[in-house]
Amino acid sequence: MTGENLKYAEVILPLKLKMEVSYIIPENLEPEINIGSRVRVEMGGREYIAVVRNISSNCGEYAGKIKEVTGVEPAPAITEKEFEFWEWMASYYMCTIGEVYRAAFTSSITEQEHKKARNRPSKIKAGEEFSKLSAAQEKAFEEIKQSFSKGVPALLEGITGSGKTEIYIRLAKEEIDKGRCVLYLVPEIALSRQLSERLNAVFGERLLIFHSKQSPAERFRAHKALRESGDGKGYIVLGLRSSVFLPFRELGLIIIDEEHDSSYKQTDPAPRYNGRDCAMMLGKIHSAPVVLGSATPSLESQFNVASGRYTGILLKERFYGAETPEIVVLDTIRESKRGKMNGLFSQQLIKEIENTLLKGEQVLIFRNRRSYSPLVQCTNCGHIPLCTHCNVPLNYHKGKGILLCHYCDFRIRYTQVCPACREATLEDKGSGTEKIEEKIKEIFPFATVARFDAEVTRSKREESRILKEYAAGKIDILVGTQMISKGFDFENLSLVALIQADSMLALDDFRANERAFQLLTQLSGRTGRKHVRGKIIIQSAQPKHPVYHLFETGSDTVYDQLSERKEFDYPPYVRMIKITLKDRNRERLSEYASQLGDTLGRIRNIECSGPFAPLTDKIRGEFLLVFWIKFSRNSGSAIKTGLKELLTSFESGKSSLTVATDVDPV
Ligand code: ADP
Ligand code: ZN
Repeated sequence: MTGENLKYAEVILPLKLKMEVSYIIPENLEPEINIGSRVRVEMGGREYIAVVRNISSNCGEYAGKIKEVTGVEPAPAITEKEFEFWEWMASYYMCTIGEVYRAAFTSSITEQEHKKARNRPSKIKAGEEFSKLSAAQEKAFEEIKQSFSKGVPALLEGITGSGKTEIYIRLAKEEIDKGRCVLYLVPEIALSRQLSERLNAVFGERLLIFHSKQSPAERFRAHKALRESGDGKGYIVLGLRSSVFLPFRELGLIIIDEEHDSSYKQTDPAPRYNGRDCAMMLGKIHSAPVVLGSATPSLESQFNVASGRYTGILLKERFYGAETPEIVVLDTIRESKRGKMNGLFSQQLIKEIENTLLKGEQVLIFRNRRSYSPLVQCTNCGHIPLCTHCNVPLNYHKGKGILLCHYCDFRIRYTQVCPACREATLEDKGSGTEKIEEKIKEIFPFATVARFDAEVTRSKREESRILKEYAAGKIDILVGTQMISKGFDFENLSLVALIQADSMLALDDFRANERAFQLLTQLSGRTGRKHVRGKIIIQSAQPKHPVYHLFETGSDTVYDQLSERKEFDYPPYVRMIKITLKDRNRERLSEYASQLGDTLGRIRNIECSGPFAPLTDKIRGEFLLVFWIKFSRNSGSAIKTGLKELLTSFESGKSSLTVATDVDPV
């Protein structure tokens, strides 16, 4: 072989590499290798499956010895649309294309893995009869289509039970019937489980479900079906954020359900992407219309409606005409002064629970904290046991008899003996779901009480058992974290109570109020469906807080919230990037941070603040310092390009340091 005849493949490796790497294409593999092919290559003594981005007759500037491609995967080629999407993502989220490919690739699967897995036969349905849309639904449906015809995304705002899902199904069906594909995004697996039955009844074998907890065979089925789609055979993919990486061919519609949900955001590792925003871009690339839906749209999306980028469409009434729940805010300080608190619960709440149970209806108690107590403290010396690896108190889990770190899972056996003064005087402080469950059982010994939080639902069987029994009315009172706030439909649930509700407001985050409002609305959406009017009781030490006021009055203060964001220069009025520096050595970290601070301070057109120590400033043995960058909405890509270069060169050569860049942090 002479040098002139050699062909080189520039490939993308699933690694955080700055550039594409070239490999020689051996003659015998030449006919099989095209742009988009997946090839086997070696790098640093390991074999990777890489993607061919380019084929050329020179190998760029690289002067060292160039290796050969060692094999070709039988998988179909990555399309230009996929590359366009990956490249957009790398530039928008300030990561490398290798990191995007790695994210896309873990959502994928190789043919080899597939051969080991069983392929389930799929049921064939179609011909399902629809229920007729109500007049309000019909109107919303038409408005959405009108918006689509103008090329404008639609934001469907409607309370839980207003019939949004029914509208999505109708929109999707039209596309499937035309042989096109539909992406139906939900933020959490629990929601996809809920929806899958309903969608299966309509779409049968044309329904593909996609998330990371599935078996390889199921995920492979989605990939294969989509690659072979587009020939008049459409599919609907019900999936989590990673489904934006699926190999869509003819994408006719994207539905983004619960668009406000922060679970759409991947926080680690890079790409730190928001599935909602990526789906918007995917829609653009495929010229596919997008409908976003929520009972509590994000301020970002409402801003887009206000500025004409989206069409806002409202569904006001619940489909079954059920009334929205009654809202009661209970002042725990006042109640306590009047001697009307019984431990964690006000006497009025206990009375309300009792009345609800007497009517044969069900109760949900919400507390956004799992564990028995968020910390234990010594009454003799004041010591609070902390995690050895993270700067946080250890949570007490009474049932397991352990103190546990919720960041890194570090655990020690709990005894009352204080590790500092050796007296047997440790006591639990505060309350989590486990303690609430215990106390409720004491107050209502005849009621069936269960708990639903990340600890209990670690077992999938236990999770579905509890949901089934609660839905069937076999559980009277369910105590749970936000896991329970989303999507579940319990017909007989008529009372929702929030214990220590203020803890959701006390976050160091400009979105805290928006989140709290969304959570309250989600929770109230769980009550009073179909037959019973619900009630929601909020136990608060700050009953006059604007979030409760907004929730009680239901007044439209979106513009107040938006103007607050505007006044203080927060998104959506500006763009934000969060840069986190991590190092195992505290002194070295602060030295690096001050160096970076100096550099960032010199960049024009950005506002940089930091370094700050976050509330939890040590996680898994690494100390953390954070910078916040703000800049104008219009100057995004130029600033990001400069910043990315700066950070890459800053990080290089500092082996102990990690720099995590988070664009549009939530
Ligand atoms: P959302 O998605 O807004 O929470 P859903 O679409 O789930 O609302 O509708 C709420 C309830 O009303 C569901 O039980 C659904 O089956 C029912 N429903 C909605 N639209 C119709 C319709 N046109 N005909 C009959 N039942 C409907
Ligand atoms: Zn820890």
